[in-house]
Amino acid sequence: MKPADAAIDESAWASWERLPCPLAVVDVHGRLVGANGLFAGLGTSAGWDWLDVESRDELQLAWQRASDFELELARAPGPGWLVCRSRWDAVLQAHISVWQDLLSSKAAEQAAQLRLLADHVPALIALYDAITHRCLFANREYAHAFGFTERSVLGLTFAEVIGPEAAERIKPYVERVLRDRQPAQYERQLLGPDGRPRWIEVQLIPHLDAQGNSLASFVQILDITKFRLAEAAVRESEARLDKFMQASVEGILFHRDGIITDANPPLCDLVGYRLEDMVGRPALDFVAPQELHKVRQVMSQGQELRYESTVLHRDGTPIPVEFIVRTLLCQGEHLRMAIVRDIRAQLAAQSRIHHLAHHDNLTGLLNRVAFMERLVPAMQRAERGGQRLALLFIDLDNFKRVNDSLGHLQGDKVLVTVAQRICDCLRASDLVARFGGDEFVVLLDDIHQRDDVLVVLMALLSVVEVPVSVNGRDLFVTPSIGIAVYPEHGDSAEELIQHADTAMYLAKSDGRASYRYFEPAMAARAYADLVLESELSEGLARGEFRLHYQPQVDARDGRLVGAEALLRWQHPQRGLLSPDAFIGVAERHRLMVPLGEWVMREAARQSRLWHESGVAAVPIAVNLSAMQFRLERFADTVRQVLAEVGVPGAWLELELTERMLMDDVGTAPATLTALRALGLSISVDDFGTGYTSLAHLTQLPLDKLKIDQGFVAKLPDDAGALAITRAIVQMAQGLGLRVGAEGVRSRAQWQLLADWGCDDLQGELIAASMSADQFEAWLHSRHGAFPTMAQ
Ligand code: C2E
Ligand code: CA
Ligand code: CA
Repeated sequence: MKPADAAIDESAWASWERLPCPLAVVDVHGRLVGANGLFAGLGTSAGWDWLDVESRDELQLAWQRASDFELELARAPGPGWLVCRSRWDAVLQAHISVWQDLLSSKAAEQAAQLRLLADHVPALIALYDAITHRCLFANREYAHAFGFTERSVLGLTFAEVIGPEAAERIKPYVERVLRDRQPAQYERQLLGPDGRPRWIEVQLIPHLDAQGNSLASFVQILDITKFRLAEAAVRESEARLDKFMQASVEGILFHRDGIITDANPPLCDLVGYRLEDMVGRPALDFVAPQELHKVRQVMSQGQELRYESTVLHRDGTPIPVEFIVRTLLCQGEHLRMAIVRDIRAQLAAQSRIHHLAHHDNLTGLLNRVAFMERLVPAMQRAERGGQRLALLFIDLDNFKRVNDSLGHLQGDKVLVTVAQRICDCLRASDLVARFGGDEFVVLLDDIHQRDDVLVVLMALLSVVEVPVSVNGRDLFVTPSIGIAVYPEHGDSAEELIQHADTAMYLAKSDGRASYRYFEPAMAARAYADLVLESELSEGLARGEFRLHYQPQVDARDGRLVGAEALLRWQHPQRGLLSPDAFIGVAERHRLMVPLGEWVMREAARQSRLWHESGVAAVPIAVNLSAMQFRLERFADTVRQVLAEVGVPGAWLELELTERMLMDDVGTAPATLTALRALGLSISVDDFGTGYTSLAHLTQLPLDKLKIDQGFVAKLPDDAGALAITRAIVQMAQGLGLRVGAEGVRSRAQWQLLADWGCDDLQGELIAASMSADQFEAWLHSRHGAFPTMAQ
């Protein structure tokens, strides 16, 4: 292809055409000015795109520089290398370039194969000229490792490849290889393309000619990062172990074959030695003699476990410890590590827990569990020795009152005082326990006759009386005691306690500050109670309870003024039962609370019926149990019942006994006030049998006193009853209270009571208690014909 440009003369052109290699004339813009036929054979038809992109860029730069150059270029897309040697012709203002197709030669083919091989070995390989230190060859891995390509790295000095700093560092090795003609090896760190440090191992191998002169250095680099990281991990874990050992508050000891190699400061402190005094000594030197056998065994068997043992302090003090022993592989060696944990505090806590578990926190006496644990062996001893034991079950009277009115703190003080006094009455060999609340249990051993127990009982009764001041009045906390004797009253611990408990309940019902021995009949009663208790709750669920009503009439004209609701139980086997048959049991087992609520609801319902039907527009009186009245928020319960049934408070009256008013000195006034605020009126039932002080009575918000039927029954003949009844009526009038009488059986009684000014009457004379239906019939029958005292 002859160029169009006339600057190239014809003869030059002809000689180029004859050249045995491709030739091209190219301007500084890389435009082909002319080319011989062979060049066209390279496949030059479409510009330079038969070269790869990188080669094209290099070539473009070379064209622009307007000077001689030589470049090794790659074909695209196929394999092959070309060498372009170019001369700048200033006259032509163009490059005259001669091309050599390396692929065409056999050597080039081999070179290409070698490169393929070099690129696939898992190492970084390069060859540097011995004189110029320029890179003659590098495989891809090598070139990439330093941020070059296989071609761009060629011709660069190693300082240019690996950086001046690194070059400075490896200079001595390079010099040695060149000077001594011996291989050299070194390791160094470099930053990988991802910015992470890498470790490499470099081998420098001299390439000598036949005369032994250095021609080049062969560089082979292995990436040993993986190994270095693994090593570092091991070193780190060792360092960590060391740090942990120093930082641990627990003692740590290392030994090899029983000889101490290391220990941390806490361990040194524990045994009182310095580290230098311990290292090199047998670990067993620090173990208590009685433990040697066990520790030696663990050591010899190389067991990994956790166990308790004892070490010795330098001053000989044995220290209980826990060992946690492990075997560690450390730098290829088996080391034994023992964590030595001081468990003195732990053992102390354990024994404290044991004490707590066996003793009552408040009084320090034994608790139920601990007492039972000792009772059984005491019974066995007594049986062997033919002796008797007495088990005393002590329950405090009035204690609940102290707690409720003075608070638990005062209650606790009373319990501590009582506990102390009980102990003062006993011998050291007697056992005392607090079973909870205000219950104490005492076991007296070596009892020969009842008198032996009596002495203690008398002492207890006289001494365990704690006066407590409540609102300026002294309450006496006294004991009620039940006694069961072994072996007569039971042969198991549970039975003995059960029987003493039963006897105690009976002592309590005798009044305060008394004692009772167990009798077999009591057990029968206790059993009957138990049966009754379960029947009661079933009866309540099955709706077996009823209310009967007893009319209350005006003493002057016999007009109906009220009715008292009286509880009955329609027992499936025993028929209709009166309250006396079951109320005691219901109260003891707290069933009185739901039962009492049922009574109130039923009475309210009946009152509503009678009011709305116009049968009897009078209030119904409901008897309250002490247990109900003492309930916290009792007034709230009443309010709820009223709201539920939909009746005003004025349609109900509540009957409380004197005892109830006295027992709850603390809360009674507030509860009564709340109840009256709901519209209910309050009667004091069985008045005259209690010990209510007049002063106290005047302070309470009350409406009515009901003279106890015991006094009424003795009227009109008994002078004492006459005097008392009359006084009650006068007193009530003086206090502005209404007064009623119950149990009125005769006209004479009615006459007297009416004369004195008693407001209303209740009793057989008027009518006995009856069902709601009967009550209505009764009312109907006497309609318009009120039986007055005159009749
Ligand atoms: P109380 O509150 O003193 O009730 C009066 C008791 O005397 C009733 O016996 C009544 O039937 C009886 N009575 C009244 N007038 C006469 C009479 O002229 N002659 C005779 N022989 N008896 C008469 P009841 O129904 O057996 O009740 C006994 C006690 O049971 C009551 O005495 C009361 O304390 C209690 N009670 C009754 N119902 C309830 C209740 O719903 N709740 C509570 N907590 N206790 C109740
Ligand atoms: Ca009553
Ligand atoms: Ca009564």
